[in-house]
Amino acid sequence: MEVHRQPATPKGPDTWFTGDVWIDGITSGESPANARVSTVRFTPGARTAWHAHASGQTLYVTDGQGLTQARSGDIVAIRAGDVITTPAGEWHWHGAAPDHYMSHITITERAAAPGNPETDWGAHVTDAEYRGE
Ligand code: MN
Repeated sequence: MEVHRQPATPKGPDTWFTGDVWIDGITSGESPANARVSTVRFTPGARTAWHAHASGQTLYVTDGQGLTQARSGDIVAIRAGDVITTPAGEWHWHGAAPDHYMSHITITERAAAPGNPETDWGAHVTDAEYRGE
């Protein structure tokens, strides 16, 4: 057993997010484990860019209120306690509501093929997309 102290929380990169997002890693899924786990905190209005996970993703909302959307689906409100599962390869985004913070834990399985990225990142979610226009 080991106790790990968190290093300083890094900010999520502008290439992956709109707005202020902070990410604390929990585990990077060292072999033989396969799941990468993080806590992600979104300020109001902040959200991911469009992206897809090679082996899918589970989100567990731990605080606040947020929004999520799959490509060609409706925007869905999410809140603390919700579990959101996204299948492998489905393009989607997730983030805070316009007027609330939102924190979630991400559980992301590593890509099955070695060397493949576990997440493909696409365009930022525009303000119009975020508003559902
Ligand atoms: Mn995702």
